[in-house]
Amino acid sequence: LQGHARYSKVEELGRGKFGIVLLAHDKQTQQQVAIKCLKPNTVTFRYISAEVLNHRKLQHPFVIGFKEVFTTPHYICIVMEYASGRSLYEHLCQSGHFSETAARWFFQQLIIGLDYCHQKGVVNRDVKLNNMLVQVFPNEPRPPVLKIADFGYCKAYQTSDPKTKVGTLVCMAPEVISSRSGTAYDGVKCDIWSCGVMLFWMLFGATPFPPDPGAKTVEERNKSLLLRIMEGQWQPPASIPVSEPCLHLLRHILVPDPAQRYSIADIYAHAWFKENLPAEA
Ligand code: ADP
Ligand code: MG
Ligand code: MG
Repeated sequence: LQGHARYSKVEELGRGKFGIVLLAHDKQTQQQVAIKCLKPNTVTFRYISAEVLNHRKLQHPFVIGFKEVFTTPHYICIVMEYASGRSLYEHLCQSGHFSETAARWFFQQLIIGLDYCHQKGVVNRDVKLNNMLVQVFPNEPRPPVLKIADFGYCKAYQTSDPKTKVGTLVCMAPEVISSRSGTAYDGVKCDIWSCGVMLFWMLFGATPFPPDPGAKTVEERNKSLLLRIMEGQWQPPASIPVSEPCLHLLRHILVPDPAQRYSIADIYAHAWFKENLPAEA
């Protein structure tokens, strides 16, 4: 951003697969913005174009705001709304797990935001805690707002970073895993599965399909993880009590067969989901 007429770098917010995310000051509006700087090359260009084209279609209170895109000699830069509360993953790491009420608050916003994206023809396919950002309002009596981010789906299980690999695998629907053998899958239903994994994770502070603790290598670990996801066998930990209606919803989302899995309409109609719905906008 050196010498940029409008934006000046404040600090680095995160480092991703294809570039970095910066916190910057917008001299024109005097606001803080986040700028994702991506390095295009023959491999990444496709993903970056998809990310820009998808993200710019979306404008919703539960989706991180897209502002503009510009290029520098080395980067394609996406300017977006800055989520000052960082990611849901960081929030969860801090508190271990959320109360049922807090988990529902974020889950409701996630479903409403994703439903909007789906209606705009955008399936995220990368729903995970690190890609859900949180907007906080330190000087106002307002609860935190969830912001869906990262519209650059890439096949993270092909990357060499084992953390990324596992992080993405744990949220991946069984039909996505088996789609590597060539079968098509419904992107909306696989996003819903990932939302189920996120709800479980927020409630219990752990993923529903933990890898085999006896696994010695990353390969063994991932293999055991894949097997558990494909079987779709999970248990809520007895140590954290959660209401029956909440478990009922979870049982209808974390269903390996996408045809049997709840749709977004089913989730909207569920009693646990309908309680204390956040106002949109
Ligand atoms: P990648 O595609 O490489 O995963 P992300 O878009 O998920 O990139 O961004 C990487 C990280 O940067 C996020 O997990 C988050 O911590 C931070 N980040 C990204 N966008 C924003 C934003 N708008 N506001 C605040 N932090 C952000
Ligand atoms: Mg990401
Ligand atoms: Mg991405």
